[in-house]
Amino acid sequence: MKSLTVTLPATAAAPYDIRIEAGGLARLGEQVRAVAPAPSCAVVTDSLVGPLYLERAAASLAGAGYRVLVHTMPAGEAHKTLATASGALDTFLNARVERATPVVALGGGVVGDLAGLVAATLLRGVPFIQAPTTLLSAVDASVGGKVGVDHPAGKNLIGAFHQPRLVLTDIATFKTLPPRELRCGLAECVKHAIIREAGLFAFIESHVGKLLACDSAAIEELVARNVAIKAAVVMEDPFEHGVRALLNLGHTFGHAIENVMGYTGIAHGEAVALGTIAATRLAAARGEFPPGDVGRIAALLEAIGLPTALPGLDVDRTFAAMATDKKVAGGRLRLVLPTAIGAARVVQTGDADVPGIRRAIASLSAA
Ligand code: NAD
Ligand code: MG
Repeated sequence: MKSLTVTLPATAAAPYDIRIEAGGLARLGEQVRAVAPAPSCAVVTDSLVGPLYLERAAASLAGAGYRVLVHTMPAGEAHKTLATASGALDTFLNARVERATPVVALGGGVVGDLAGLVAATLLRGVPFIQAPTTLLSAVDASVGGKVGVDHPAGKNLIGAFHQPRLVLTDIATFKTLPPRELRCGLAECVKHAIIREAGLFAFIESHVGKLLACDSAAIEELVARNVAIKAAVVMEDPFEHGVRALLNLGHTFGHAIENVMGYTGIAHGEAVALGTIAATRLAAARGEFPPGDVGRIAALLEAIGLPTALPGLDVDRTFAAMATDKKVAGGRLRLVLPTAIGAARVVQTGDADVPGIRRAIASLSAA
């Protein structure tokens, strides 16, 4: 079992623990009771996670004395909407929940983001507990307090900051993850390593086989080290005014690729892998990143089974999509570029940088 405490500036939220434990779901009830005692608790899960883990989680919560209310949403990003959140609010309000009732998110990032919005708005805000069941949600989505849903105008456009009281990750649940979901989680882990910790990069390199096989000890260390990075960044910058922007490494290119692909055929983590390659090549071309390490990053992403090239990618459309990304400040594109394996910075680009950015995109389609 590994554990760390997130302490935010006094204005943001109370400190909370992130616990990482194989089999931890069996102790969910007692752990929730320790931070959010109440007569009832409100679980949000999805149609794929529910059949696998709801019984175990609900039994533990009931064993700790809670009346367990459950809202099961259909699985998938397409259902991360205000309508789904509204349905969950109906379920819990009709069951007469109290202000002390914790909302427990049992699932991946979709469930976590949506349940967090429900927790932030139910009776003007109730305690929120995250029980992430995907690698991505464990290392990324569950840490930091950003919650929300999608809108037809774009992803995550409706939301709030609502910090959890506890994050409990049962890494044994990752064993049922589709391999592609595991690889997408690893893409964000590689991103964390590149922006902040060369040692983590080396750890992933030397444990790829074990990580892909969901070896318990390797996964536990991976999650703990990644959570430490994300939590450190969030503690420094809870409302995303500064250093938190580094977490967008690979994402401005990646979002544009997802957009051009119409959000089909490519998973978010795969787009992030491609975006990371593009950002790294751009940094190297600017003379700001050691050229020899470009290949090292590509080799690791390939070993994980992530794409590093996308033949036929349309450079014009991808560049145009980047320019409309929400991270554009005052019409100028802000890009996160690595300066080494283990460090990155935000670069404000101008007209002179356009050819370089286009070459970086083109390198993905040519390779
Ligand atoms: P997800 O929640 O859709 O989970 C992926 C798929 O795996 C789903 O079909 C789910 O039902 C299934 N699943 C989940 N756990 C499983 C398990 N243990 N065994 C078998 N199947 C399982 O997606 P995700 O990748 O976890 O999260 C992506 C979401 O997270 C996006 O909506 C993204 O916007 C959000 N996100 C939020 C933040 C944040 O800071 N709040 C950060 C990153 C991503
Ligand atoms: Mg991401």
